[in-house]
Amino acid sequence: MRAVYFNSHGDLEVLKVGEFEDPKINRGEALIKVEYSSINRIDTLIRRGYPGINISLPHIPGVDLYGKVIDIDDSSDINPGDFVIANTVYGCGHCNFCLEGKEHMCEQWKMIGFHINGSHAELIKVPSKTLIKVKGDGEKLGVSPLSLSISWNSLVTIGNIRKDDFVLIHGASGGVGTFSIKIAKLFGAKTIATTRSNEKAKILKSIGTDYVIVSTEEDVKDRVLEITDKNGVDVIIDYVINPTLPISLDVAKTNGKIVIFGFLGGNTFAINWQKFYLKHLRIYGIHNSSKLELKDAIKYVENGEIEPYISKRINLEEVKEGHKIIENNDIIGKISVKVK
Ligand SMILES: [Zn+2]
Repeated sequence: MRAVYFNSHGDLEVLKVGEFEDPKINRGEALIKVEYSSINRIDTLIRRGYPGINISLPHIPGVDLYGKVIDIDDSSDINPGDFVIANTVYGCGHCNFCLEGKEHMCEQWKMIGFHINGSHAELIKVPSKTLIKVKGDGEKLGVSPLSLSISWNSLVTIGNIRKDDFVLIHGASGGVGTFSIKIAKLFGAKTIATTRSNEKAKILKSIGTDYVIVSTEEDVKDRVLEITDKNGVDVIIDYVINPTLPISLDVAKTNGKIVIFGFLGGNTFAINWQKFYLKHLRIYGIHNSSKLELKDAIKYVENGEIEPYISKRINLEEVKEGHKIIENNDIIGKISVKVK
């Protein structure tokens, strides 16, 4: 099969495209013919070598997956010929979190395209328990899993957003940001998005963001307080931390929630803890979501109520270009990877 892979960690040039041996499935696994995938920031972090987690080389990247089941060695309701996506994370299957269906919280969690080979290949084998049967537009479904699951977990599971709540998304132009804007709209919440670029601001506005703040031109704290009549924001989504977290502490409503799923600006950062506890704030750390959360969320992509924003379309030979766009922070919405 044709696949994108790397033999060593490093810059863009370690990414190769070539022939790879077809995967062979074992008990509990499924073989999928990949039709669509996407590029996520984590693909670039894995390529560079993710701190603290070793992967076997050569490695095929690619976390998101939409495709057709070719073979499955499991007694499940999924059969060859079905179209599927996969929840990107899975657990040991027997700890208390796994028994509750929260495999993303399993201490032994593993991720597709990370701990095992990914979807930037014509074929992929995955644990069959990760699969969700889907119908509809393959490209839209294929760019959704990781970004959608993080956004859904942040706003719906943790945020419990309601009509007229304010949601603030720092650096909102990427996959999670654009999905979060769509989810917030679906629940009737009002969205405030920040970006450093006027060009991205225009796109954020065009996809329905209520308020867009260009952080290089306006004071984010002042503007958010102005927009919310000094009441502050109910839920804040942040993957930057430095310099955004102090702003979040200032603009969060009393008892508000801050959800963190990354640390683009550095992973150690001092904050004013007095502001934190005097406002009864809650900071949540997450990665991924449960399969059930993704199953709930993907229904809205299937029926068109959540429309992924796809800014670029590439094929396997161009995956390197996708990594470059993400590493240059030029990403807007999702990049789709057509494999079929
Ligand atoms: Zn487990």
